[in-house]
Amino acid sequence: MNATHRPPVTVTVNETSYRWPLRPVVVVCIDGGDPRYLRRYLAEGAVPHIAHFISQGFAGVAEGSMPSFTCPNNMSMITGTPTSKHGISGNFYLDTATWQPVVMTGPELLRGDTVIARFAAAGAKVVSITAKDKLRRQLAKGLDVSQGHVSFSSEFADKCTMAENGIENVIEWLGMGKPGMYSMELSLFVLEAGLKLLRERRPDLLFLSLTDFVQHKWAPEEADARRFYERLDDLFGRLAAEDITLALTADHGMSDKSNAAGEPNVIWLQDVLDARFGKDQTIVICPITDAFVAHHGALGGFVRVWSRGKVTARQIIEHIGGVDGIELALDKATACRMFDMPMDREADVAVVAREDTCIGASAKDHDLSGLKGHRLRTHGGVSEAKVPFILSRPLNDAYKAKAASTPLKSWQIFDYAINGTV
Ligand SMILES: [Zn+2]
Repeated sequence: MNATHRPPVTVTVNETSYRWPLRPVVVVCIDGGDPRYLRRYLAEGAVPHIAHFISQGFAGVAEGSMPSFTCPNNMSMITGTPTSKHGISGNFYLDTATWQPVVMTGPELLRGDTVIARFAAAGAKVVSITAKDKLRRQLAKGLDVSQGHVSFSSEFADKCTMAENGIENVIEWLGMGKPGMYSMELSLFVLEAGLKLLRERRPDLLFLSLTDFVQHKWAPEEADARRFYERLDDLFGRLAAEDITLALTADHGMSDKSNAAGEPNVIWLQDVLDARFGKDQTIVICPITDAFVAHHGALGGFVRVWSRGKVTARQIIEHIGGVDGIELALDKATACRMFDMPMDREADVAVVAREDTCIGASAKDHDLSGLKGHRLRTHGGVSEAKVPFILSRPLNDAYKAKAASTPLKSWQIFDYAINGTV
């Protein structure tokens, strides 16, 4: 910034106005950061920096977007809008013109602008770092990294180029080995890189998005989960020491969905529907599916059912509504109204599992070998849609009033962090 190029007073993104940040704003999405982890570690005194933010700043439990998966919620945060506006309601939807699943994780299906791209266009310096590369392109929609902005994933930290990522030689620069896909270091790398960029370049906005490998694998009472949160807390403390506003939230929670014997409680919904209506009459899509499923076997708490034409939504709902473990089976209009989701990407029937149960398509199509020796912990339903919402600085009076009078939504995290703090 110099005298002739003063930044605008506000930047408007998807109809929300944001003031120019008073100091760097760092938003961290703790993937799978169920409030149960923090509750436990706060009670144990294991996360002193987070405890300090809660006592000195602001903390609440917010509603995340449904379904409680990674992509929809990251897109809600980065656009500051609910799923109905930005259109990304899962990793896949079914195109009924071709009956083929369509991947929704690219930027082309994301509607509206991102907060970071609009701020970048207005002259701010922005950074977006993710653990998994599948999110990176969507988060960087409309961002021109040739203008000094940075966007990369720890998954591909060794492949960064100036043209694609606005940074290169990341492994050498950070001095941290390339983390494995199934490691807590994949997330810690994101935070270490964000901290180093903050110290070296002092960008205006940073979005740091982790991965939920740890929470899928370990319950709050397990030592490895606590160790991960202790390391997160240490990093949050080092970030907050840089005179920033730090905002912590999660894309979704995490529930144990196994029985007393340690076997997953699964409803194989495609098999249930085929047995009743015949083969190829309905199509079950599991929108949690991605390339890295070893820790959940593509099993989640939310699936979508499309009818090929002969079976009505009502018949499907009547048949599966009473199945033990199904919490909700909703027609398209009801599901979209209830969960603020986009109609044009919704199925004929949206199905939500109970907290202790998950839903798959056909038993033969899910590889559960990666779960061996571990209880299935996963997400997608209403029971995993509650997330922490923590700011390192107190709210101003206007946002105190807002927080007291309207439900807190995780898609408002940039709004609260930029506009709502003192
Ligand atoms: Zn997950």
